[in-house]
Amino acid sequence: AARENGVVVLRFDHALAQRHADRLQLAGRIHLAIERDEFELYFQPIRHAADGSPAALEALLRWPQPDGSFIPPSDFIQLCEDTGQIIALGRWVIRAAAHAGRVLADNGWAGLPIAVNVSAVQLFNSDLVGEFTRAAEALGLPPGALQMELTESSLMRNPAQAMQVLESLSASGIAVALDDFGTGFSSMSYLQHLALDSLKIDRAFVADVERNPRNAAICRALLSLGHSMGLVVIGEGVETEGQLDWLVAHGCDHVQGYLLGRPMPLRELLALLALARDS
Ligand code: C2E
Ligand code: CA
Ligand code: CA
Ligand code: CA
Repeated sequence: AARENGVVVLRFDHALAQRHADRLQLAGRIHLAIERDEFELYFQPIRHAADGSPAALEALLRWPQPDGSFIPPSDFIQLCEDTGQIIALGRWVIRAAAHAGRVLADNGWAGLPIAVNVSAVQLFNSDLVGEFTRAAEALGLPPGALQMELTESSLMRNPAQAMQVLESLSASGIAVALDDFGTGFSSMSYLQHLALDSLKIDRAFVADVERNPRNAAICRALLSLGHSMGLVVIGEGVETEGQLDWLVAHGCDHVQGYLLGRPMPLRELLALLALARDS
């Protein structure tokens, strides 16, 4: 509302209304896409830094379009969180990840867990422990076949409740990684009370780490913080040999990034893993 000559003038904001209409339309398309099973999971390897052998796979959502392109998760996850659709979509992801776990086990990779991204809305508004354990059980997998990735900012929305959910996940044998580590503002005293298994150093800090003293200082601090808490530390977004060498030299446990394998359909990844194993 603007004030003109002392009179309040209400103007219809066309741009805002258009954005609102676009979001509603997208939400409708997402609803249909879930119903029609149109989403896909891609998988990216997380590797042992020491020898490059696979340590886990991260499941990443893809929304294929009729023209062969993909709508990236950055374009729809936030909307799904706002509308609550992330609960239904997240449930689909958990089940699809369990199916992939079954395929992995049947191809000789029983020990390779699948890490699933979970948003704050799911953490605080659904029975996550139940959904994870039931999905694994339905496919004859142990609970440890699925892992969870949560961001620092998700946990900080409700630290007390987050602590409880993490306790019950841990008691159920589901490992939890703290994603995008270093980008939030959790204090060390808070972190040490969380039942976590690993930390993923955000790729913003891994970028340029071998040349940028500031990023190197942050990575060193995050590695030492993680290790002092007895956690596995994972370097994300590794794109160059220089970054990989730096992380290996500084004791990073696991590495993930385009250099070590892009996100791809499970069949392709299985072929890649088999090739490396048999060579
Ligand atoms: P994230 O969990 O931090 O996932 C890592 C992102 O970095 C992925 O983007 C991955 O494709 C990308 N990436 C991996 N290696 C490299 C690299 O070397 N360089 C660069 N530049 N990027 C790399 P993606 O798949 O577009 O996903 C973006 C975000 O969307 C994820 O960030 C995650 O927060 C969210 N997301 C994806 N799938 C799911 C899901 O199933 N559920 C939820 N709640 N969120 C998801
Ligand atoms: Ca992640
Ligand atoms: Ca991340
Ligand atoms: Ca991220």
